[in-house]
Amino acid sequence: MKHLRRNFFKLIGVSFLSTFLLPYKLLYSATKKIINPDLTEEQKNIMLNEATERPYSSPLNNEKRKGFFHCANCGAKLFSSDAKFDSGTGWPSFTESLPGAFKTKIDYSLGMKRIEYHCATCGVHHGHVFADGLQKKRFCSNGLCLIFKPGI
Ligand SMILES: [Zn+2]
Repeated sequence: MKHLRRNFFKLIGVSFLSTFLLPYKLLYSATKKIINPDLTEEQKNIMLNEATERPYSSPLNNEKRKGFFHCANCGAKLFSSDAKFDSGTGWPSFTESLPGAFKTKIDYSLGMKRIEYHCATCGVHHGHVFADGLQKKRFCSNGLCLIFKPGI
């Protein structure tokens, strides 16, 4: 009897959680739209499943020209080269995004509280934003989610 009751509460606990989390998950994934048909599996994995590319793997780490960084999925303009800096983390980093470029949500995966950011236009994941060090903010971006277009 005791055992049964424990199972009952376990069941209630699980359904309680999924009742609240499932609609949120569904809502969030429904807002992500793949627009670019040429995206690789690795890009889709980052954009849809919030995976992270290997550090120091992006050629954009060394991109120092003037220009803008666009969403690799929908083409929206996200960052200016003026905000780019070398964070030493191995991911393209920016102090600020262009106004309205991203939306954020709190991410508790990996056992810590982080702020996830995603494209305001198409909803796909781009990275996490931190407030640390001497910089006011650090947008830690997956280079695979960005396309650089040189120019002013
Ligand atoms: Zn986008």
